[in-house]
Amino acid sequence: MIKFLDLYKINERFRKEIDLRIKNILDKGWYLLGDEDKKFEENFAKYIGAKHCIGCANGLDALNLIIRGYGFRTGDEIIVPANTYIASILAISENGCTPVLVEPDINTYNINPDLIEEKITEKTKAIMVVHLYGQAVQMNKILEIAKKYDLKVIEDSAQAHGAYYNGKRTGNLGNASGFSFYPGKNLGCMGDGGCVTTNDDELAAKIRAIANYGSDRKYHHIYKGVNSRLDEIQAAILDVKLPYLDKDNLRRREISKYYRENIKNDKIILPKTYDENAHVWHVFVVRTENRDELQKYLENNGVQTNIHYPTPPHKQGAYKELEKLNLPVSEELHKTVISLPISPVMEDNEVKKVVNLLNDWK
Ligand SMILES: *Cc1c(COP(=O)(O)O)cnc(C)c1O
Repeated sequence: MIKFLDLYKINERFRKEIDLRIKNILDKGWYLLGDEDKKFEENFAKYIGAKHCIGCANGLDALNLIIRGYGFRTGDEIIVPANTYIASILAISENGCTPVLVEPDINTYNINPDLIEEKITEKTKAIMVVHLYGQAVQMNKILEIAKKYDLKVIEDSAQAHGAYYNGKRTGNLGNASGFSFYPGKNLGCMGDGGCVTTNDDELAAKIRAIANYGSDRKYHHIYKGVNSRLDEIQAAILDVKLPYLDKDNLRRREISKYYRENIKNDKIILPKTYDENAHVWHVFVVRTENRDELQKYLENNGVQTNIHYPTPPHKQGAYKELEKLNLPVSEELHKTVISLPISPVMEDNEVKKVVNLLNDWK
């Protein structure tokens, strides 16, 4: 069986280093907001090229903390792509803000910059871009629009650790960015984890306080905060894995390139990228009219796949207020997408097997 993502195999490579770091934490007896957290935050900020990194409990919280940090609230509108993972939209509504859905570009699967301006109203406060499937959003036009209307640009970088746009990494392209370290992400821990990156000193200090019961120092609460922290064990695990992230992304690029050059089947639409450095291939998404049939065929031949995602957010029970929206591109994508296995530990013979199966599919 070729697994969709072999997490055991991915983490097994780091067993010795991780064992040592966890032993150190046990020896020290310090579990939250300590040296491990500080070290990882510094290293990740440096990697991203951003001034600040603030660890938190998960990717959803990271986005939530950014919106809270800016003080956006009931009635404020935030523009977001219609085909994103539900978490981007949940972070918006969790703060009482209104998500304003914009269709993706059918070629990049990222938000269509040409459709943003028509959605801006007096109430619009921010544009949330999502670097979906691992491909950095082409930011130029979006940054121009944000400047023209004085909007904040929030990045959801949960799927794109290490991707580049114009020589800068995701997480350093807008005003603030949320990352997730969920185990299956390109940089994943062994539980839940996340962080915010930003170059904004004031926002960084505010988010750090909000995430720790709203306190800027012990027992001194200046905001009605939450408890959302990255623990020392997860931080240490991430700090072990971070130096290998670029190499792992390179292997994903290699597999993606092989797929794109060798899968030849008229029934399958392959993904494209505008720049090889812009994409870290968190998932390799192809499209076909007979998605369910293809999934069954691959399963029967020992290949696991996944669907990112089967139902668009505006058709979910949680968002009845959005169900009447006319979003044909998004709906078409959700009906036809299927994700093939891709990971830094996938072997050449496995990649070839997937290609052969797809080329034989009638
Ligand atoms: C994974 C993910 C999140 C949420 O991250 P969690 O750590 O699971 O909360 C947010 N946005 C996108 C696009 C994601 O893929």
